[in-house]
Amino acid sequence: MTQTDKIITRFAPSPSGLLHLGHAYSAKLNYDFAMENGGEFILRIEDIDHLRCKTEYENQIFVDLHWLGLKWPTPVRRQSDHFDDYAAALNKLSDMGLLYPCFCTRRNIREEINESSRAPHLGPKMGPEGLLYPGICKHLTDKEIAEKMAANIPHAMRLNMDKALKLVNEPLYWEDLNTGIQKATPEVMGDVVLARKDFPTSYHLSVVVDDDIQNITHVIRGEDLYYASHLQRLLQHLLGLKTVTYQHHGLLKTKDGNRLAKRDKSITINSLRESGTHPEELDAIISDYL
Ligand code: GLU
Repeated sequence: MTQTDKIITRFAPSPSGLLHLGHAYSAKLNYDFAMENGGEFILRIEDIDHLRCKTEYENQIFVDLHWLGLKWPTPVRRQSDHFDDYAAALNKLSDMGLLYPCFCTRRNIREEINESSRAPHLGPKMGPEGLLYPGICKHLTDKEIAEKMAANIPHAMRLNMDKALKLVNEPLYWEDLNTGIQKATPEVMGDVVLARKDFPTSYHLSVVVDDDIQNITHVIRGEDLYYASHLQRLLQHLLGLKTVTYQHHGLLKTKDGNRLAKRDKSITINSLRESGTHPEELDAIISDYL
């Protein structure tokens, strides 16, 4: 970002459930940061997962965020309208030789991990979001791949992290507003899926493409996505996209220390509104959960 760039933040919910207090917190942080800096706040609907996302939830997002007092430009970018953009990015990575098809089922992966746990020195590696993909399909020959393709075995596309890092061949850095310059360590995420079996993109790929297209300068989101930022920095570099500044906020927790989740119906924005809460009271309610 240069000094003269206008600050553009975004809130990018998935319409797979009702928004809760944690979403309100994140959306308001993005909104306030943009407004305080004479910038712009954008809403984006992240609905690539057609099995989990529903129009009724999308409509509810608009109602909830309006109730919070937020405003955003329209039309709102809906990811499901832009699969071509994600396909172009995927093709670029494929042309660079950085992807490989993965035919594994969850079960194959689980079995491989169980098997390899018996050899601790070669055993499964733990990443920030669980055990890493053990690389079963990484070394398939062209012939094996062709056979599986011909047999119509569904496949995802994974990033070959070793190849990607070799290609970059220099440390990448990104800025976090809270903790300063960070050295990117995308390798902790392993060979992530960039195009899923059930739809031809992934959260990580769509997000970096959209952040670039929408000229986002600051991404403010929960600390659960801290390592996603490391990976997304790598994807930005590989795809020649603009970088962004990040900030990772704490997650709201219930009194017993659990993270708020979509299943905590009592603290959805909708239920707060219906029980007569005023939007001005939200900051106080949110601070009870921080
Ligand atoms: N759709 C993602 C979510 O709801 C957005 C994460 C992000 O801000 O990058 O978790």
